[in-house]
Amino acid sequence: MDFNLPENTVAIRDMVREFSQKKIEPIAAKIDKDDDFPMEVFREMGKLGMLGLTISQEYGGAGLDYLTEGVALEEISYFSGSLGLSYGAHNNLVADNLFRNANKEQREKYLPGLVSGEKIGSLCLTESGAGSDALGGMRTKYEKEGEKYTINGSKTFITNAPLASVFLVYAKNGKSYTAFILERDDGVETPKKIKKMGMRGSPTGEIVFRNVQVGGNRILKGEGQARNIIYNGLNAERAVLAFGPIGIARRALDEAINYSNQREQFGRKIGEFELIQEKLAYMFTRLEAARLLAYKAASLVGETISDPSYAAASIMMASETATQIAKEALQIFGGYGYTEDYPLERYLRDAILYEIGAGTTEIRKIVIAKALLKR
Ligand SMILES: Cc1cc2nc3c(=O)[nH]c(=O)nc-3n(C[C@H](O)[C@H](O)[C@H](O)COP(=O)(O)OP(=O)(O)OC[C@H]3O[C@@H](n4cnc5c(N)ncnc54)[C@H](O)[C@@H]3O)c2cc1C
Repeated sequence: MDFNLPENTVAIRDMVREFSQKKIEPIAAKIDKDDDFPMEVFREMGKLGMLGLTISQEYGGAGLDYLTEGVALEEISYFSGSLGLSYGAHNNLVADNLFRNANKEQREKYLPGLVSGEKIGSLCLTESGAGSDALGGMRTKYEKEGEKYTINGSKTFITNAPLASVFLVYAKNGKSYTAFILERDDGVETPKKIKKMGMRGSPTGEIVFRNVQVGGNRILKGEGQARNIIYNGLNAERAVLAFGPIGIARRALDEAINYSNQREQFGRKIGEFELIQEKLAYMFTRLEAARLLAYKAASLVGETISDPSYAAASIMMASETATQIAKEALQIFGGYGYTEDYPLERYLRDAILYEIGAGTTEIRKIVIAKALLKR
């Protein structure tokens, strides 16, 4: 068994790390404070090829695997959890989703712009009355008249919505659930940016569709195929997004170690106190275990397994770990951790999102248990 990452994954990791250190680190606190998405940095990511890691070279991408994309997400999230979230939603939930499911014409139309960063993508599933039960509670409807499809309804909590120009939208007609590729110019409205406790700078918004009309060429994979698209993509989504909280957790641990080596109380470095050492040992162990599971889940997606237990376990483990590590790191910083002068409170606010977004911890537990009971 080889625990080393493949050579090309290491090369991408190092490139993303260097870029993030130089371009994201200096503005990470400002992104959070101003709740402002760094568009220029995002476009630079596109120029460097960071936005199309899993997309084939034919469409401007790098043709790499989910593990590599996950490792890149860990690096970005180490410096800014919120930019990592927007990156994950754009890259995996939209661009990779289109790459997997779109026809040639749709791929040619949308992928180059998404890969270059000229266009930002949003995946639109959740509604005000349809969160965990996203399909069962869905009210966004489409109707077919002649060759035209008309979409009416609304979505909420959609990452990147306020800035996006490509929207992958799920809608229903009776018992038929269909995915549409919509453009802002089709008349998609994004009336509200939602204020959040964390992940500030990753714009989250509401979307309204009022008689939005498109042709059948905007349907992804065929009418009535939404369920397949959603369920076939979940392993990749969960396995890649798990690396977001791992990046946040790794940063919080690094900060905690540095502080433990500097801060003195009772005439000693606080790192000399066994209660602090116990925290560091526990944080390190949880992080390494979460990352190993994430590597395994991401590698299994490449082998196209249909069992959802590894990917769901990976994102559950990673997100709970990030919340725990961020909280313990804040505790190690004492009163300073609780202030806005240090980034610990940001790490905790950002980490908590991953226990809710892209499916809650509770739903992940249900998914894992159901898969186990089926075995
Ligand atoms: C910052 C952010 C970004 C997001 N980005 C996107 C995006 O890009 N696209 C998108 O479509 N959505 C997005 N979401 C939505 C996210 O996927 C939902 O918030 C999530 O699925 C939960 O839905 P809900 O908020 O309606 O909670 P609810 O489903 O109402 O759940 C409320 C509580 O009940 C629990 N619960 C629900 N059902 C069960 C059950 N059967 N058993 C036990 N407990 C249960 C939940 O775990 C939770 O604790 C985002 C959310 C946030 C906060």
